[in-house]
Formats: sequence, structure tokens, C-alpha cells
Amino acid sequence: MEKRTKIVATTGPVSESPAMIKALMQEGVDVFRLNFSHKSHDEADKAVAMIREARQQLRKPIAIMADIKGPALRLYGYSTTLPIQAGTELVIESRDAAGIEDSKSDSPAHVFTNLPDIDRICAIGQKVILMDGYFAGSVVRKQQHAVVVRIENEGALRPKAHLTIPGADYPIPFLSEKDIGDIAWAVGSEIDYIALSFVRCATDIEEVRRLVQRFAISTGKRPTTKLIAKIESARGIANIDEIIHEADGIMIARGDMGVEMPIETVPIAQKSIIRKCYLAAKPVITATQMLESMIENPMPTRAEASDVANACFDSTSAVMLSGETAMGKYPVQVVRTMRSIIDVVEEQFDYADFHQDVPPEVKTGDIPAIMSYNAVSVAYLCGAKALIVLTETGHAARLLSRLRPRMPIYAFLSDERLYNQMALNWGVHPFMHSGKGTRLDAVVDEAISLCKGEGLLKSGDKVVIVAGLPLAQQGTTNMIRVETIQ
Ligand code: PEP
Repeated sequence: MEKRTKIVATTGPVSESPAMIKALMQEGVDVFRLNFSHKSHDEADKAVAMIREARQQLRKPIAIMADIKGPALRLYGYSTTLPIQAGTELVIESRDAAGIEDSKSDSPAHVFTNLPDIDRICAIGQKVILMDGYFAGSVVRKQQHAVVVRIENEGALRPKAHLTIPGADYPIPFLSEKDIGDIAWAVGSEIDYIALSFVRCATDIEEVRRLVQRFAISTGKRPTTKLIAKIESARGIANIDEIIHEADGIMIARGDMGVEMPIETVPIAQKSIIRKCYLAAKPVITATQMLESMIENPMPTRAEASDVANACFDSTSAVMLSGETAMGKYPVQVVRTMRSIIDVVEEQFDYADFHQDVPPEVKTGDIPAIMSYNAVSVAYLCGAKALIVLTETGHAARLLSRLRPRMPIYAFLSDERLYNQMALNWGVHPFMHSGKGTRLDAVVDEAISLCKGEGLLKSGDKVVIVAGLPLAQQGTTNMIRVETIQ
């Protein structure tokens, strides 16, 4: 049985070879994430070609996600690691973003940032975090366009380290010139998902949708790239309902969330966002530091294993690996470890209890919601081996997925981009059908014989078929049928 919870793996120097990409797919990766904080278009083109080649060879639905850097604050002005002592007073000066990447400071105690007006944003005593939490300090003095931060601990500050000012609203545009270029690349390269960093409100996503439309028209491509909103700030959390409504999915980006907000609020935010997402029938990815110690070690810590398991018990759609598969020593083992944790949780998961959590629209007369809820009820009552859903946009499959049923959801689609995109959804196993049949019976026959051919169904098994009639029309889930396989 295929696992239900999906794995997103970030590519990087250790994983971007044809053999490694293939090995990771075979171990259970469903989505490959290309991180544009660290990637040129040339490097991304090569990685995409490898992933497409491998998914075709293995005949697997696999999605590709371009993760756009977004409005990140960084430190500049130095090109090698800076040694920092406890008590070091570091001057952080606001500089114009243009040219800042190549700027040079004349003192190791003086660095630059792309955050404008840092002296106006920070009060004396404001907490400041550097390099995602490796350094903490506070503002002790202000200068013109700069603040002096006394650092509490020692260590080595890497070039382009992240700067975080917890609780502040950063006055920088949501998209930089680089981000716009990366979105254009993603649309032109027909990438399945774009993940958007630091989404603050629904209008951030609307802005990117307009860009996707514009780039699609100018390149003659289809604007069907789906948008994942990364939630990593207090504003993103405050506006979570409108963001979930506008986005095609959510990533709980716990790395930045854990420094932008009090760390103790992260587990609560995780649980709440996961629940909101499955109720909205949108995929949700739990990300960052899931098996972090496996960057160096062949085994995770017990706490990390529990973290992956608990995210699965929360019923996240997917769990994500970052540095573990991008630059770690054990990329294959880490996916295998994640997979075995998922497998054990999925044996224990209380599917029937989950089914008691009836989505609100079932009670307010929404026909697709009612049909999908009852399809799963019928599947339990008749002991069905699987749900087969014929879906034009994927929505009918997501309506089944949000109910987290015990039985697999075999989703039949005729569009290849959608087929790969559906790989992110909990419990959904996408298949391509020929798209030739217009009669329900013909399409059902084709779907069943495909499942039999793959060894997923055998004579005597019952399946529940869910479809919208007329076929190939969107948003019409209105039919449930029980079939016994001949
Ligand atoms: C995160 O902050 O958790 C995250 C996934 O974003 P990034 O890796 O792009 O910083």
C-alpha cells in the first residue's frame, strides 16, 4: 500500500544527479522543491530536466515546486564568515537594495541590511535575531540609518545571514526584481507549484496570480501553476483564513515562523493551520528541521522522529525535508526514515474517528461536499478497497482527501500537469486516463482495468466510484456508484 502522507524534498548539491533523484523518488519523495534563495535558472533547468526524466522512467506522478525567496532580510557587506564574541556590538546599517549584494564594509563590526530605516523600525531594547536563531541580541543605540546591536553569544556569522526583528512589519515590497524573474522562469518552465515566502495577506497571492497570467500569455504557456503560501510571520497567521481561501495550498514554514514569533506558539499554529487546510480541502505542508540532525548523522533524534509522527497524527498532507536532502550526508536514508515513520503512524491513525468530523458544508446543502462525504461513508459500510474519482480539476479528489479516508483515493485525470500536481494531496494516487471516453461506463472500465493492471484491485474487491456528470464538466460531483470488480 502506498503511503498517504506525502514527502517534499528540497534538492541541492547532494541530490541533483539523475541517480540520486531517481533513488529519492523510489524511497517515497512526491514533490521536489527547488529553493530559489540558493539557485540560478541554469541550475534549476538542470534539476527540472533530471526530475522530469526520472518521473517518466519510473511512471510516477511527481510535482516540482519553485520556492521563491520573497521579502527576506539579510546582512551584507562581508564576503567571509565573521567571528562574533558574546558582547560584540554590531552596527547594522540600512542600505539601498540595489548593489547591496556586492557592497563591502570597512569594518567587521559594521554590516549592511536591505531593510530600509532600521533606526526607525527598532526601539532601544528591540530584540534582534541573526542567522535564523544562531545569534540573539538587542538594540543598544541608534545611529543615522543604523542601529547598534549587542550580541549575546559567540559564533561565526555566515555571509548573507538572515536578519529577523521579531514582531516588526517590514516595509519592503512583497516581490523583488529577482522574485519576479524567478516567477517568470517558473511559468515559462511549466513548473507545477510556486511557493511564496512570507505571504502576509490574500492580496500578496492575488498579485502573483496576475503575474502568472501575464507571463503565461507572453510565453504561450498555460497559467495552471498552483500557488502555495508559506506562512512564517505573525501577519500571515493573523490573516490565515483569507490566505487559505486565496492560495492553492499552505506551507507551515516553521524555520522563519520560529524566529518571527515566540517559539512556543509554533506547535499551536501548526495544528490550527493543518485543521483549517483540511477543512478547506487544500493541501498543507509541515516544513523545516523535521529530521535536521540527519544532515550530519545516520539516525534522527527521538524528538525529530516524534515531530514527524505528530505532524502525521495532526493529519498534515505532507512533511518536508530541507537541508537534509539538499546538502546532508544521508539523503536517501533520511527519506527512508521519514517514510518508515509515516508508515507506522498510518497503521495507527484513527480514520473512523476522523470521519466523525463532518465538514460544515455537508450540513448546509453543498452537493459536492455531501456526495464526497457520503462516498467515504459508503466505502466504510461496504468494505470498499478503494475510492475511484474521475475529476477534471482535482477538486473532487481533494474533497475526498480532506476526509482522510482509510482506503486509497485513485484519482483519474486527463491533464498531465494536474496529474503531477495531485501528488501533493494526502491519500491521493493520481492516474492519467486517455480522456477519450465521454460515456461514464467507458471511463470507469478504463479506470478499473488500469487499477487491475497495476495489481491494486482484484476480482471480488468493491470500489466506490465518485464522478461528476456530465463528465469533463467542472465542479459537478454528483454521482456515487459501488462496483464489484469482475
Ligand atoms: C522556513 O522558513 O521554514 C522555510 C521553509 O523557508 P526557507 O527555507 O525558504 O527559509
